[in-house]
Amino acid sequence: MSAYDTNNIFAKILRGEIPSHRVYEDEATVAFMDVMPQAEGHVLVLPKAPSRNIFDADPATLPALIATVQKIAIAAKAAFDAHGVTIMQFNEPPAGQSVFHLHFHVIPRREGVPLRP
Ligand code: C5P
Repeated sequence: MSAYDTNNIFAKILRGEIPSHRVYEDEATVAFMDVMPQAEGHVLVLPKAPSRNIFDADPATLPALIATVQKIAIAAKAAFDAHGVTIMQFNEPPAGQSVFHLHFHVIPRREGVPLRP
């Protein structure tokens, strides 16, 4: 597995070098809207601590991360009048990871509306 790249696009977003539509931030985590949403209200949740993905994440950072995922899931479900929420998380390219800073996808789902590819 490669080392963490401090110039990955989410690292730049976290440093404020690239704009994002932030919807939540606390000491340990940030959430912003995905620029290519797979459904209306698609949010990404990241730890501020640098980790490439689940394999190198410090376990101490994970409770705060999953707590933010839950907050965002509840808020996004209400805000987008959704019937459910899909939560996805990818690790390494064969699994679908394309940006190499650990993140969760939180996607509000409506009855009969498939995810966009
Ligand atoms: O989990 P994975 O690494 O495949 O997903 C990266 C996600 O980051 C994609 O959903 C993509 O649309 C999103 N993205 C973003 N803003 C960027 C670059 C990528 O929201 N500037």
